[in-house]
Amino acid sequence: MKKPAIEGGKPVRKNFLVFGKPKIGKEEIKEVEKTLKSGWIGTGPKTKRFEEAFLEYIGGKYAVAVNSCTAALHLTLLAAGVGPGDEVITSPVTFASTANVVEHVGAKPVFVDIEEDSLNIDVEKIEEKIDKKTKIILPIHVGGVPCEVDKILSLARKYKLFVLFDAAHAIETEYKGKNVGRLGDASAYSFYPTKNLTTIEGGAVITKRKKWAERILLMSNHGISKDAWKRYTAHGFVPYETIMPGFKYNMTDVQASVGLWQLKKLEKNWRTRKKICQLYRKAFVDNDLLGLFNEPKDDRLAYQLFIVKLNLGKLKITRNQFMEALRAENIGSGVHFISLHLHRYYRKKYGFRKKDFPRAFDASQRIVSLPLSTSMSFEDAKDTIKAVNKILNYYRG
Ligand SMILES: *Cc1c(COP(=O)(O)O)cnc(C)c1O
Repeated sequence: MKKPAIEGGKPVRKNFLVFGKPKIGKEEIKEVEKTLKSGWIGTGPKTKRFEEAFLEYIGGKYAVAVNSCTAALHLTLLAAGVGPGDEVITSPVTFASTANVVEHVGAKPVFVDIEEDSLNIDVEKIEEKIDKKTKIILPIHVGGVPCEVDKILSLARKYKLFVLFDAAHAIETEYKGKNVGRLGDASAYSFYPTKNLTTIEGGAVITKRKKWAERILLMSNHGISKDAWKRYTAHGFVPYETIMPGFKYNMTDVQASVGLWQLKKLEKNWRTRKKICQLYRKAFVDNDLLGLFNEPKDDRLAYQLFIVKLNLGKLKITRNQFMEALRAENIGSGVHFISLHLHRYYRKKYGFRKKDFPRAFDASQRIVSLPLSTSMSFEDAKDTIKAVNKILNYYRG
Protein backbone atom coordinates (compact mmCIF):
# COMPACT_ATOMS: atom_id res chain seq x y z
CA MET A 1 0.00 0.00 0.00
CA LYS A 2 1.30 3.44 -0.95
CA LYS A 3 2.12 5.79 1.90
CA PRO A 4 0.23 9.12 1.83
CA ALA A 5 2.40 12.23 1.55
CA ILE A 6 1.20 13.37 4.95
CA GLU A 7 2.84 10.23 6.43
CA GLY A 8 6.08 10.88 4.55
CA GLY A 9 5.23 9.26 1.20
CA LYS A 10 5.68 10.85 -2.22
CA PRO A 11 2.91 13.30 -3.17
CA VAL A 12 0.75 12.39 -6.16
CA ARG A 13 1.76 15.63 -7.91
CA LYS A 14 4.41 18.34 -7.64
CA ASN A 15 2.45 21.55 -8.09
CA PHE A 16 -0.63 22.45 -6.08
CA LEU A 17 -4.01 21.97 -7.75
CA VAL A 18 -6.15 24.91 -6.69
CA PHE A 19 -9.71 23.96 -5.79
CA GLY A 20 -11.62 26.32 -8.09
CA LYS A 21 -9.35 28.28 -10.36
CA PRO A 22 -11.11 30.64 -12.80
CA LYS A 23 -10.29 30.44 -16.51
CA ILE A 24 -9.72 33.86 -18.03
CA GLY A 25 -8.79 33.95 -21.72
CA LYS A 26 -7.18 36.57 -23.88
CA GLU A 27 -10.61 37.74 -25.09
CA GLU A 28 -11.59 38.78 -21.55
CA ILE A 29 -8.25 40.54 -21.07
CA LYS A 30 -8.54 42.42 -24.39
CA GLU A 31 -12.10 43.50 -23.60
CA VAL A 32 -11.04 44.77 -20.17
CA GLU A 33 -8.19 46.68 -21.79
CA LYS A 34 -10.56 48.24 -24.32
CA THR A 35 -12.94 49.26 -21.57
CA LEU A 36 -10.19 50.71 -19.41
CA LYS A 37 -8.94 52.77 -22.36
CA SER A 38 -12.43 53.86 -23.40
CA GLY A 39 -12.76 56.36 -20.59
CA TRP A 40 -15.95 54.70 -19.34
CA ILE A 41 -15.04 52.22 -16.63
CA GLY A 42 -18.00 52.42 -14.27
CA THR A 43 -21.56 51.23 -14.81
CA GLY A 44 -22.51 51.87 -18.41
CA PRO A 45 -23.23 50.35 -21.81
CA LYS A 46 -21.30 47.11 -21.27
CA THR A 47 -23.10 46.42 -18.03
CA LYS A 48 -26.38 46.83 -19.94
CA ARG A 49 -25.13 44.51 -22.68
CA PHE A 50 -24.11 41.92 -20.12
CA GLU A 51 -27.50 42.13 -18.42
CA GLU A 52 -29.26 41.58 -21.75
CA ALA A 53 -27.01 38.69 -22.76
CA PHE A 54 -27.39 36.99 -19.37
CA LEU A 55 -31.16 37.41 -19.53
CA GLU A 56 -31.18 35.86 -22.96
CA TYR A 57 -29.16 32.87 -21.73
CA ILE A 58 -31.46 32.20 -18.77
CA GLY A 59 -34.61 33.03 -20.70
CA GLY A 60 -36.25 35.07 -17.93
CA LYS A 61 -38.17 38.33 -18.08
CA TYR A 62 -35.99 40.97 -16.39
CA ALA A 63 -32.35 41.06 -15.33
CA VAL A 64 -30.40 43.43 -13.12
CA ALA A 65 -26.63 43.09 -12.79
CA VAL A 66 -25.14 43.95 -9.41
CA ASN A 67 -21.78 43.55 -7.68
CA SER A 68 -22.42 40.22 -5.90
CA CYS A 69 -24.96 37.49 -5.27
CA THR A 70 -25.16 38.77 -1.72
CA ALA A 71 -26.32 42.15 -3.08
CA ALA A 72 -28.74 40.37 -5.43
CA LEU A 73 -30.30 38.45 -2.53
CA HIS A 74 -30.39 41.51 -0.27
CA LEU A 75 -32.10 43.74 -2.85
CA THR A 76 -34.60 41.07 -3.86
CA LEU A 77 -35.68 40.58 -0.26
CA LEU A 78 -36.18 44.35 0.00
CA ALA A 79 -38.06 44.45 -3.31
CA ALA A 80 -40.33 41.69 -1.99
CA GLY A 81 -41.03 43.85 1.05
CA VAL A 82 -39.39 41.48 3.53
CA GLY A 83 -38.57 43.29 6.77
CA PRO A 84 -38.72 43.24 10.56
CA GLY A 85 -41.20 40.69 11.92
CA ASP A 86 -41.11 38.59 8.74
CA GLU A 87 -39.77 35.06 8.40
CA VAL A 88 -37.78 33.62 5.53
CA ILE A 89 -37.72 29.86 5.05
CA THR A 90 -34.36 28.58 3.88
CA SER A 91 -31.88 25.75 4.38
CA PRO A 92 -28.83 26.02 6.65
CA VAL A 93 -26.58 24.18 4.17
CA THR A 94 -25.51 27.23 2.23
CA PHE A 95 -23.01 30.05 2.14
CA ALA A 96 -23.30 32.53 5.02
CA SER A 97 -24.70 35.33 2.90
CA THR A 98 -27.97 33.52 2.10
CA ALA A 99 -28.98 33.91 5.76
CA ASN A 100 -26.95 37.06 6.48
CA VAL A 101 -29.09 39.10 4.09
CA VAL A 102 -32.20 37.97 5.97
CA GLU A 103 -30.62 39.42 9.10
CA HIS A 104 -29.72 42.59 7.17
CA VAL A 105 -33.37 43.32 6.40
CA GLY A 106 -34.33 42.62 10.02
CA ALA A 107 -36.23 39.40 9.27
CA LYS A 108 -35.69 35.94 10.75
CA PRO A 109 -34.21 33.01 8.83
CA VAL A 110 -36.20 29.87 9.56
CA PHE A 111 -34.11 26.83 8.71
CA VAL A 112 -35.45 23.59 7.29
CA ASP A 113 -33.26 20.47 7.17
CA ILE A 114 -31.97 19.03 3.89
CA GLU A 115 -33.12 16.00 1.89
CA GLU A 116 -31.69 12.54 2.35
CA ASP A 117 -30.08 12.26 -1.08
CA SER A 118 -29.08 15.83 -1.93
CA LEU A 119 -27.91 18.89 -0.02
CA ASN A 120 -31.08 20.82 -0.95
CA ILE A 121 -33.96 21.83 1.29
CA ASP A 122 -36.33 18.97 2.24
CA VAL A 123 -39.65 20.07 0.75
CA GLU A 124 -41.55 17.65 2.97
CA LYS A 125 -40.46 19.66 6.00
CA ILE A 126 -41.25 23.14 4.72
CA GLU A 127 -44.98 23.20 5.47
CA GLU A 128 -44.59 22.65 9.23
CA LYS A 129 -42.41 25.79 9.39
CA ILE A 130 -44.88 28.07 7.60
CA ASP A 131 -46.81 30.45 9.84
CA LYS A 132 -48.39 33.91 9.62
CA LYS A 133 -45.01 35.62 9.62
CA THR A 134 -43.63 33.64 6.67
CA LYS A 135 -43.15 35.85 3.66
CA ILE A 136 -40.81 34.12 1.26
CA ILE A 137 -39.10 30.78 0.62
CA LEU A 138 -35.40 31.01 -0.21
CA PRO A 139 -34.10 27.62 -1.39
CA ILE A 140 -30.60 26.96 -2.73
CA HIS A 141 -29.77 24.72 -5.72
CA VAL A 142 -26.68 23.38 -3.95
CA GLY A 143 -23.87 22.43 -6.29
CA GLY A 144 -26.12 23.18 -9.25
CA VAL A 145 -28.57 20.36 -8.49
CA PRO A 146 -32.13 21.72 -8.82
CA CYS A 147 -34.43 21.75 -5.80
CA GLU A 148 -37.86 20.13 -5.92
CA VAL A 149 -39.12 23.23 -7.68
CA ASP A 150 -42.70 22.11 -8.44
CA LYS A 151 -43.44 21.19 -4.84
CA ILE A 152 -41.93 24.44 -3.58
CA LEU A 153 -43.98 26.50 -6.03
CA SER A 154 -47.20 24.72 -5.13
CA LEU A 155 -46.59 25.37 -1.41
CA ALA A 156 -45.93 28.99 -2.26
CA ARG A 157 -49.22 29.21 -4.15
CA LYS A 158 -51.12 27.55 -1.33
CA TYR A 159 -49.83 29.95 1.33
CA LYS A 160 -49.33 33.02 -0.93
CA LEU A 161 -45.59 33.21 -0.43
CA PHE A 162 -42.86 34.47 -2.73
CA VAL A 163 -40.04 32.21 -3.91
CA LEU A 164 -36.50 33.51 -4.38
CA PHE A 165 -33.96 30.91 -5.44
CA ASP A 166 -30.30 31.24 -4.48
CA ALA A 167 -29.01 30.18 -7.89
CA ALA A 168 -25.34 30.98 -7.18
CA HIS A 169 -24.43 27.47 -8.38
CA ALA A 170 -27.12 27.00 -10.96
CA ILE A 171 -26.55 29.16 -14.06
CA GLU A 172 -26.79 26.17 -16.44
CA THR A 173 -29.23 24.10 -14.36
CA GLU A 174 -32.47 22.97 -15.95
CA TYR A 175 -35.55 21.65 -14.21
CA LYS A 176 -37.95 19.66 -16.40
CA GLY A 177 -36.42 21.12 -19.53
CA LYS A 178 -36.43 24.77 -18.46
CA ASN A 179 -33.60 26.82 -17.12
CA VAL A 180 -34.34 26.92 -13.42
CA GLY A 181 -33.89 30.71 -13.35
CA ARG A 182 -37.19 31.11 -15.17
CA LEU A 183 -39.09 29.54 -12.27
CA GLY A 184 -40.26 31.20 -9.05
CA ASP A 185 -40.46 34.96 -8.52
CA ALA A 186 -36.74 35.57 -8.80
CA SER A 187 -33.29 33.94 -8.81
CA ALA A 188 -30.01 35.38 -7.54
CA TYR A 189 -26.70 34.61 -9.25
CA SER A 190 -23.04 34.89 -8.26
CA PHE A 191 -20.12 35.70 -10.54
CA TYR A 192 -17.49 35.20 -7.84
CA PRO A 193 -14.11 33.80 -9.05
CA THR A 194 -14.93 30.15 -8.26
CA LYS A 195 -18.39 30.19 -9.85
CA ASN A 196 -19.24 28.90 -13.34
CA LEU A 197 -19.13 32.39 -14.81
CA THR A 198 -16.99 35.08 -13.22
CA THR A 199 -16.86 38.86 -13.42
CA ILE A 200 -14.25 38.84 -10.60
CA GLU A 201 -16.98 39.91 -8.20
CA GLY A 202 -20.51 40.23 -9.46
CA GLY A 203 -24.05 39.01 -9.35
CA ALA A 204 -27.45 39.35 -10.96
CA VAL A 205 -31.14 39.00 -10.29
CA ILE A 206 -33.46 37.41 -12.80
CA THR A 207 -37.10 38.08 -12.05
CA LYS A 208 -40.46 37.81 -13.71
CA ARG A 209 -41.70 40.85 -11.75
CA LYS A 210 -41.25 44.19 -13.49
CA LYS A 211 -41.76 46.17 -10.27
CA TRP A 212 -39.07 44.17 -8.49
CA ALA A 213 -36.61 44.67 -11.34
CA GLU A 214 -37.20 48.45 -11.30
CA ARG A 215 -36.86 48.60 -7.53
CA ILE A 216 -33.69 46.48 -7.52
CA LEU A 217 -32.09 48.64 -10.21
CA LEU A 218 -32.97 51.79 -8.28
CA MET A 219 -31.67 50.43 -4.97
CA SER A 220 -28.45 49.13 -6.55
CA ASN A 221 -27.44 52.68 -7.47
CA HIS A 222 -28.02 54.78 -4.32
CA GLY A 223 -31.76 55.01 -4.89
CA ILE A 224 -31.23 57.90 -7.28
CA SER A 225 -33.47 58.31 -10.28
CA LYS A 226 -33.22 56.00 -13.27
CA ASP A 227 -30.16 55.87 -15.50
CA ALA A 228 -28.35 58.15 -13.10
CA TRP A 229 -25.12 56.59 -14.37
CA LYS A 230 -25.63 58.79 -17.44
CA ARG A 231 -25.35 61.94 -15.34
CA TYR A 232 -21.85 62.81 -16.56
CA THR A 233 -22.12 61.91 -20.27
CA ALA A 234 -21.92 64.12 -23.36
CA HIS A 235 -25.61 64.90 -22.87
CA GLY A 236 -24.44 67.15 -20.10
CA PHE A 237 -25.34 66.93 -16.46
CA VAL A 238 -28.66 65.18 -15.97
CA PRO A 239 -30.35 66.30 -12.77
CA TYR A 240 -31.22 63.40 -10.53
CA GLU A 241 -33.25 62.94 -7.44
CA THR A 242 -32.87 60.65 -4.45
CA ILE A 243 -36.00 58.55 -4.37
CA MET A 244 -34.97 56.34 -1.47
CA PRO A 245 -31.76 55.66 0.48
CA GLY A 246 -30.32 52.94 -1.75
CA PHE A 247 -27.08 51.00 -1.80
CA LYS A 248 -23.82 51.01 -3.76
CA TYR A 249 -24.29 47.61 -5.40
CA ASN A 250 -23.76 48.39 -9.09
CA MET A 251 -21.69 46.29 -11.50
CA THR A 252 -18.98 48.11 -13.51
CA ASP A 253 -18.24 47.93 -17.23
CA VAL A 254 -14.83 46.43 -16.42
CA GLN A 255 -16.55 43.53 -14.68
CA ALA A 256 -19.11 43.27 -17.48
CA SER A 257 -16.25 43.06 -20.02
CA VAL A 258 -15.09 39.87 -18.35
CA GLY A 259 -18.66 38.62 -18.03
CA LEU A 260 -19.55 39.10 -21.70
CA TRP A 261 -16.80 36.71 -22.79
CA GLN A 262 -17.35 34.30 -19.92
CA LEU A 263 -20.94 34.04 -21.07
CA LYS A 264 -19.88 33.24 -24.64
CA LYS A 265 -17.71 30.43 -23.29
CA LEU A 266 -20.25 29.17 -20.79
CA GLU A 267 -21.45 26.10 -22.70
CA LYS A 268 -17.97 25.02 -23.73
CA ASN A 269 -16.78 25.37 -20.15
CA TRP A 270 -19.81 23.46 -18.96
CA ARG A 271 -18.88 20.50 -21.19
CA THR A 272 -15.36 20.44 -19.73
CA ARG A 273 -16.65 20.32 -16.15
CA LYS A 274 -19.23 17.70 -17.08
CA LYS A 275 -16.45 15.43 -18.36
CA ILE A 276 -14.44 15.92 -15.18
CA CYS A 277 -17.50 15.02 -13.12
CA GLN A 278 -18.02 11.91 -15.25
CA LEU A 279 -14.41 10.84 -14.60
CA TYR A 280 -14.93 11.31 -10.85
CA ARG A 281 -18.26 9.51 -10.86
CA LYS A 282 -16.87 6.53 -12.75
CA ALA A 283 -13.89 6.30 -10.41
CA PHE A 284 -15.85 6.48 -7.15
CA VAL A 285 -19.28 5.05 -7.85
CA ASP A 286 -18.48 1.61 -6.38
CA ASN A 287 -16.24 2.79 -3.55
CA ASP A 288 -17.76 1.89 -0.18
CA LEU A 289 -15.64 4.52 1.62
CA LEU A 290 -17.42 7.46 0.06
CA GLY A 291 -20.88 8.23 -1.17
CA LEU A 292 -21.94 10.23 -4.21
CA PHE A 293 -25.14 12.17 -4.59
CA ASN A 294 -27.65 10.87 -7.10
CA GLU A 295 -27.83 12.75 -10.35
CA PRO A 296 -31.43 13.51 -11.26
CA LYS A 297 -31.90 11.72 -14.57
CA ASP A 298 -34.03 14.24 -16.39
CA ASP A 299 -32.47 17.48 -15.27
CA ARG A 300 -29.43 19.23 -16.63
CA LEU A 301 -26.93 20.00 -13.89
CA ALA A 302 -24.63 23.01 -13.77
CA TYR A 303 -21.66 20.94 -12.49
CA GLN A 304 -20.57 23.72 -10.16
CA LEU A 305 -19.32 21.38 -7.41
CA PHE A 306 -18.41 17.72 -7.13
CA ILE A 307 -19.25 16.80 -3.56
CA VAL A 308 -18.51 13.42 -1.97
CA LYS A 309 -19.67 12.16 1.42
CA LEU A 310 -17.03 10.27 3.40
CA ASN A 311 -18.13 7.07 5.08
CA LEU A 312 -16.53 8.00 8.41
CA GLY A 313 -17.67 4.77 10.07
CA LYS A 314 -15.26 2.87 7.84
CA LEU A 315 -12.36 5.33 8.09
CA LYS A 316 -9.71 6.04 10.72
CA ILE A 317 -9.64 9.76 9.92
CA THR A 318 -12.03 12.71 10.07
CA ARG A 319 -13.09 14.79 7.09
CA ASN A 320 -10.68 17.56 8.07
CA GLN A 321 -7.80 15.07 8.31
CA PHE A 322 -8.82 13.74 4.91
CA MET A 323 -8.58 17.27 3.50
CA GLU A 324 -5.17 17.80 5.10
CA ALA A 325 -3.97 14.54 3.60
CA LEU A 326 -5.25 15.69 0.19
CA ARG A 327 -3.41 18.97 0.59
CA ALA A 328 -0.18 17.08 1.32
CA GLU A 329 -0.72 15.30 -2.02
CA ASN A 330 -0.96 18.83 -3.54
CA ILE A 331 -4.70 18.66 -4.15
CA GLY A 332 -6.95 21.47 -2.93
CA SER A 333 -10.51 20.82 -1.72
CA GLY A 334 -13.41 22.63 -0.07
CA VAL A 335 -16.51 22.13 2.07
CA HIS A 336 -19.89 23.29 0.76
CA PHE A 337 -21.10 23.87 3.37
CA ILE A 338 -20.78 23.65 7.14
CA SER A 339 -24.41 24.10 8.17
CA LEU A 340 -25.13 27.66 9.33
CA HIS A 341 -26.86 26.42 12.50
CA LEU A 342 -23.38 25.39 13.68
CA HIS A 343 -21.87 28.84 13.05
CA ARG A 344 -21.39 31.00 16.12
CA TYR A 345 -23.72 33.88 15.23
CA TYR A 346 -26.70 31.71 14.32
CA ARG A 347 -26.04 29.14 17.03
CA LYS A 348 -25.99 31.82 19.74
CA LYS A 349 -28.78 34.03 18.43
CA TYR A 350 -31.27 31.21 17.90
CA GLY A 351 -29.96 28.70 20.48
CA PHE A 352 -29.50 25.92 17.93
CA ARG A 353 -28.25 22.50 18.95
CA LYS A 354 -26.26 20.29 16.60
CA LYS A 355 -29.02 17.74 16.15
CA ASP A 356 -31.75 20.31 15.44
CA PHE A 357 -31.05 19.61 11.76
CA PRO A 358 -29.70 16.05 11.82
CA ARG A 359 -29.00 15.67 8.10
CA ALA A 360 -27.36 19.09 7.84
CA PHE A 361 -25.25 18.22 10.87
CA ASP A 362 -24.26 14.84 9.43
CA ALA A 363 -23.35 16.36 6.05
CA SER A 364 -21.33 19.11 7.74
CA GLN A 365 -18.97 16.46 9.13
CA ARG A 366 -18.71 14.27 6.06
CA ILE A 367 -18.79 16.29 2.85
CA VAL A 368 -15.79 17.34 0.77
CA SER A 369 -15.79 19.14 -2.57
CA LEU A 370 -13.14 17.84 -4.95
CA PRO A 371 -11.37 20.23 -7.33
CA LEU A 372 -13.65 21.22 -10.18
CA SER A 373 -13.13 24.08 -12.59
CA THR A 374 -12.87 24.77 -16.28
CA SER A 375 -9.18 25.53 -15.94
CA MET A 376 -8.48 21.92 -14.86
CA SER A 377 -7.15 19.28 -17.21
CA PHE A 378 -8.27 15.66 -17.27
CA GLU A 379 -4.79 14.82 -15.92
CA ASP A 380 -5.57 17.03 -12.92
CA ALA A 381 -8.77 15.07 -12.38
CA LYS A 382 -6.88 11.78 -12.61
CA ASP A 383 -4.35 13.01 -10.04
CA THR A 384 -7.24 13.83 -7.73
CA ILE A 385 -8.69 10.35 -8.17
CA LYS A 386 -5.30 8.79 -7.43
CA ALA A 387 -4.83 10.88 -4.31
CA VAL A 388 -8.34 10.18 -3.00
CA ASN A 389 -7.95 6.43 -3.53
CA LYS A 390 -4.51 6.39 -1.94
CA ILE A 391 -5.75 8.17 1.19
CA LEU A 392 -8.95 6.14 1.50
CA ASN A 393 -7.14 2.81 1.12
CA TYR A 394 -4.50 3.74 3.66
CA TYR A 395 -6.93 4.90 6.32
CA ARG A 396 -9.58 2.23 5.85
CA GLY A 397 -10.73 1.33 9.37
C1 LIG B 1 -21.05 32.15 -3.66
C2 LIG B 1 -22.37 32.05 -3.02
C3 LIG B 1 -23.09 33.17 -2.58
C4 LIG B 1 -22.49 34.55 -2.53
O1 LIG B 1 -22.04 35.01 -3.71
P1 LIG B 1 -21.25 36.40 -3.79
O2 LIG B 1 -21.29 36.73 -5.23
O3 LIG B 1 -19.87 36.13 -3.28
O4 LIG B 1 -21.97 37.38 -2.94
C5 LIG B 1 -24.37 32.99 -2.13
N1 LIG B 1 -24.93 31.78 -2.05
C6 LIG B 1 -24.27 30.67 -2.41
C7 LIG B 1 -24.95 29.34 -2.32
C8 LIG B 1 -22.96 30.77 -2.88
O5 LIG B 1 -22.27 29.66 -3.19
